[in-house]
Amino acid sequence: MLVSDFLTYFAIDGGGIRGYSSLLILKEIMKVIEDLEKQDDVAVDSSFHPETYVAPHNKRKNPSPGGESCRYLPCHYFDYVGGTSTGGLIAIMLGRLRMGIDQCLEEYESFGGEIFGHPRWFSIRGPLPSFKEKYNGKRLQRAVENVVENRSSPEQKAVGAGYFGSARELCKTYNIPIWQVARATTAAPTYFDPVPIQNNTFGDGGLGSNNPVQEIFWEVATMHGNNASVINLVVSIGTGQADSVKLHPSGPKKVISYFTATKALATESEQKHAAMGALIETTESSDAVHYQRFNLSSEQGLKNMKLDEWKIEGKRRLTKHGFKRREESTLDKIKRLTQNYCASDEVQEDIRKVARKLVDHRRARCSDQRKWELWATGIRYRCTVKRCDKAQKLRPSKADLKYHIEKIHPNSFRGKTDIEKRCVLEELIRKGTCPY
Ligand SMILES: [Zn+2]
Repeated sequence: MLVSDFLTYFAIDGGGIRGYSSLLILKEIMKVIEDLEKQDDVAVDSSFHPETYVAPHNKRKNPSPGGESCRYLPCHYFDYVGGTSTGGLIAIMLGRLRMGIDQCLEEYESFGGEIFGHPRWFSIRGPLPSFKEKYNGKRLQRAVENVVENRSSPEQKAVGAGYFGSARELCKTYNIPIWQVARATTAAPTYFDPVPIQNNTFGDGGLGSNNPVQEIFWEVATMHGNNASVINLVVSIGTGQADSVKLHPSGPKKVISYFTATKALATESEQKHAAMGALIETTESSDAVHYQRFNLSSEQGLKNMKLDEWKIEGKRRLTKHGFKRREESTLDKIKRLTQNYCASDEVQEDIRKVARKLVDHRRARCSDQRKWELWATGIRYRCTVKRCDKAQKLRPSKADLKYHIEKIHPNSFRGKTDIEKRCVLEELIRKGTCPY
């Protein structure tokens, strides 16, 4: 099998605001990737190379300077991205919307204030008890819609950027607005309301599959003819361990575990990690698969942070003992703890190993220019001529679509002059170009 045919994916755990930590770990990986790319070849100025860099679309009113820099995109290195709950939101941003890591961090920071900064007063978890979930799903919906609005170009919107999966051949779920997918993945009991989608109610996002690494493994294998040996690299990122608790998969005790959600979810994630390790060991091609998990241990400090902690930086106040220390904001605290974690020699070594493999993966892919155009830009070409064979519709590049139309559908140009022929061809290419 060619190196370029192997597949890579990464999985992100659920963890509410602590998902910020997984993004920061991914940022460290992307930094090393950038260094290695430049070290290997000075001509590489972005992960689109040898395709030309396309600046991301950003309509945010006050974009942060970091939000603009995203010349190296995670979607160019990972074939699949999957996540649970807030990890699912991250997966949508990095995979579906093809955002850079800094842009994604910027959005996550505003999600934090937007959602966790506004709990319902009347809720199961609120100060005034009621049967409502703690957060308003509508608010989340608006936040996700804003991201799609700000990060999609007019051309992408014209072909349905706000929807998940546009072609039946490509995706299992199709024609579902992105916000619905986001709601489904974040619908954790007592936090967000459940959401109905196409006659199914999604409401148990976190408990049961907070670490989706195994589900994605099987999903990817299934999508590739039930062949797990195509998977070459698996990166799983957690949202911080907690001291373990006993989990109750059903019965009244399960309800209690919802209330100690932080610990329960973190424990379940670690069990999944151990199971994944065992699964890789027993897979036929175990020497070929590199499985790496990154996660802050419970001693490294996130264990006591609630899934929805949201503190803003405290004010400096003068007291009779002098200036009071400012209280650290939730995001600053996660940043400090994650940086400490990433700075250790062991983690640095793991990051380098993973980054090296990912850079080799991209370089092997881009040597096949015919396939790389699709990969680098995310643009898909489809033949829209009526009665075209279903298996032939998806074309790898613009040049290939042009060739295909001329060769297979000469009838489209019957009786046309050269100029008319060119117009018909241009129109068919325009119709068949789909930014995602
Ligand atoms: Zn065709």
